[in-house]
Amino acid sequence: MPEVQLLDSADARRTDLPRVGSRIDGSIVIDDQAPVSEVFDPATGHITKLVAHADSATVDRAVAVAAEAARVWRDVAMNRRFAILMRLRELIVQERDAFVDLIVSEGGKARPDAQGELNRTLDGLDSVFSAPVSLQGAYGEQVARGIDSYSLPHPLGVVATITPFNFPVMIPLWDAAAALVCGNAVIHKPSPRVPSAALLLAELIEQAGVPEGVYNVVQGEADTVNALLDHEGIAAASFVGSTPVAKHVYTRGCAAGKRVQALGGAKNHIVVMPDCDLDFTADSLVSGAFGSTGQRCMAATLAVAVGDVADPLRAAIAQRIPSLRVGPGTDPESEMGPVISRESQRRVIELIDRGVRDGAELVVDGRSLADERDGFFVGPTLLDGVQPGMAVYDIEIFGPVLGIVRVATLDDALALIATNPFGNGASIFTASGPAARRFQREAAAGMVGVNVPIPVPVNSFSTGGWKASVFGAHGLLGPEAFRFYTHQKIVTARWPESGAQSMGMAFNPGR
Ligand code: NAD
Repeated sequence: MPEVQLLDSADARRTDLPRVGSRIDGSIVIDDQAPVSEVFDPATGHITKLVAHADSATVDRAVAVAAEAARVWRDVAMNRRFAILMRLRELIVQERDAFVDLIVSEGGKARPDAQGELNRTLDGLDSVFSAPVSLQGAYGEQVARGIDSYSLPHPLGVVATITPFNFPVMIPLWDAAAALVCGNAVIHKPSPRVPSAALLLAELIEQAGVPEGVYNVVQGEADTVNALLDHEGIAAASFVGSTPVAKHVYTRGCAAGKRVQALGGAKNHIVVMPDCDLDFTADSLVSGAFGSTGQRCMAATLAVAVGDVADPLRAAIAQRIPSLRVGPGTDPESEMGPVISRESQRRVIELIDRGVRDGAELVVDGRSLADERDGFFVGPTLLDGVQPGMAVYDIEIFGPVLGIVRVATLDDALALIATNPFGNGASIFTASGPAARRFQREAAAGMVGVNVPIPVPVNSFSTGGWKASVFGAHGLLGPEAFRFYTHQKIVTARWPESGAQSMGMAFNPGR
């Protein structure tokens, strides 16, 4: 994904556009000399704000504040942390429209997609309410004579969360809730394309009762991320974004001695068997491929048609596409919005061009919408005859493009999934239990769907992929998030009765 362009700071100072800052210790920080980048309304293409990037001095300050606050927060009782997160849930529900407006105005989503993001945000938040039980640790009584052992999950200290543009509320909050309930302080670095929702979230986190300084936001791009990754005061980094950046974050963070999880990009195969319910499958593929304008790590981007289902499937999808209403998220009728940026629009169109040059057949062409509208629009596009080796198969497009890949058997479909470098999601549409069961066992992906186009697990399971879709442990939500955001401390305890031998002499677990 292309990096955002930094403006010359003198140019930036001349404009009177509103400026979005960082939030440290409960206050907004805007350094006048800091590098800035532009925030666009993707539906109009207009610049609406500037965002001031945090330099390494600002990152140092955020870490110092967070380290101090972490010592207070870690001692706050679990039932109090639980109550604060319950209150946060209420506040997010109250501010739902404000979040939806920000998702639409900075991220460009159509309103139903923005509403859907809020629903999934709350689902994820609900998953941390198992913390009082999940964070109890384990107890082994009399593991040796007179000795008990038990595990105590401890917070890590200060953790950094680095998030992508495509879910400006959901991913930051999933990370925040898990990190906070485990007793950590957080420094969040949102995408500079969608910087404002993070600030509203931070404000609500404090309103809910989290002490100032525990949850901080630093704005920026690569330089700010690198300052976080190199900082000795940060114990762990949780990243979600594209694969090249995920790999960089993982490598650099680990080299600096941090615990890192880095979730990356994807290319998701949706296998369609000849016995599927064709209408249901075509509806699912259209919503899975074009929902959120295809800008989802779990977007259903490749329809792998097995045997003779390919022609009827292609016809059913092509028939549905013209009825999709593409427009700005401010129009309540819109079902699909623009892509995030001008660079992204150009990139998606160029990939469609390359697909055609590589020999794919353009069944529905969405490119002309780019000339017809002011914003960063690309219409829903359908390609047939897509194959490995073509750019549209190999590269994550992250736009509204669905490719049909024709194969003869389920074996062929499974082989495609196995050899693809990504392994985020894979689904099968079928009426056959044995085919579905075989698929769920053999598909080489972390999230598998059966008659479900976007198989992101609901809240009590962790989410994350395999292969180039993740580096390190993956722990968004669920039990893995609790493990990621805590150290385990194992206590071995003995209480000798008076007159017994000294601890050193007496400890002999073999007796
Ligand atoms: P991105 O990789 O460009 O940016 C992600 C974050 O990294 C942002 O905060 C950004 O400011 C920062 N960043 C960008 N360039 C950097 C660099 N060179 N060094 C350090 N930090 C850098 O991703 P994006 O365009 O914001 O989001 C889309 C990508 O995220 C897609 O690839 C999508 O598949 C992926 N994604 C994955 C998941 C998942 O669960 N696996 C979920 C959502 C999105």
